[in-house]
Amino acid sequence: MLTLDQIARRTNNFRRMGSKFVRFTDTKKGYLSNGNGYIAAASYSTHRIDSAGRAYVNQQPSKYVTVFEFLDTQLHVNISCSCEDNTYRWEWALWNRGAAEIEYSNGDAPDIRNPTYKAACCKHAYALYQKIKPKLPQPKTEGGQQTFNNKGVMIQKKK
Ligand SMILES: [Zn+2]
Repeated sequence: MLTLDQIARRTNNFRRMGSKFVRFTDTKKGYLSNGNGYIAAASYSTHRIDSAGRAYVNQQPSKYVTVFEFLDTQLHVNISCSCEDNTYRWEWALWNRGAAEIEYSNGDAPDIRNPTYKAACCKHAYALYQKIKPKLPQPKTEGGQQTFNNKGVMIQKKK
């Protein structure tokens, strides 16, 4: 399993730059029937980044849906995003590390696009993480107490 922080740290500069142009239109949060907290967000990008790192206006922005499901109070997550980058590069690699379900991809390993199976994320997931980061509680450490500084992101329903 992986935390959002671990996945974000593996995410490269190209996607971090791209994440700055991601605009969220709708967000929804709550608990799934298994008691896990989730946040779902729809977004589009105002600009795209070319291979030289230049930003240019995205003439026909597509909308994508990104979902984080919190698996425990240590903030392990399942990440989902409907974009091509997640579908063809990250979903299988994240699933391989217990951090995604096979949802959009066909379940084949991304041997060409992500041959080392690096468990990073797309710009939408990176942008959503940056957006909710200040609202996340401190992850519960082993044997330690969780400090619930929960300003709106649901993590686990009290049992
Ligand atoms: Zn995405």
